[in-house]
Amino acid sequence: MSEYDRNNIFARILRGEIPCKKVHEDEYSLSFHDIHPAAPVHVLVIPKGEFTCFHDFIELAESKRIQGFNQSVKHNIKLLGLIDGGYRLISNFGYNGSQTVPHYHVHILGGKQLGGLLPFDNLTR
Ligand code: 5GP
Repeated sequence: MSEYDRNNIFARILRGEIPCKKVHEDEYSLSFHDIHPAAPVHVLVIPKGEFTCFHDFIELAESKRIQGFNQSVKHNIKLLGLIDGGYRLISNFGYNGSQTVPHYHVHILGGKQLGGLLPFDNLTR
């Protein structure tokens, strides 16, 4: 587990220091549109609190918070109207996962057929 960086961009968004295009907020989470959308719908859901990544969250957060956050992800999927057409959830971690912002987040992607899981050339590197 890595030490949480309180100045990461999502921590600053949570504190209201940097604006975001908010989708939803509740006791456990904040969600907002990704600044560089990779699909017609691309929303990030972040937990409230200091959690660097998925395993950090699962190890450190109370069950109530984990449950609340997952319910928030589900609620966002519904709010975004993605249930009928389908969607993809992604959470990157570390170097191999290519995580760029060290605050745990779930990408919700949808709004078109997203195709294969990874670009083909990833297999040849
Ligand atoms: P990661 O690469 O860590 O899985 O995802 C980080 C995501 O955050 C990227 O998709 C990136 O476009 C998005 N992002 C980075 N900075 C900002 C920002 O200041 N505002 C918003 N809304 N999204 C951001």
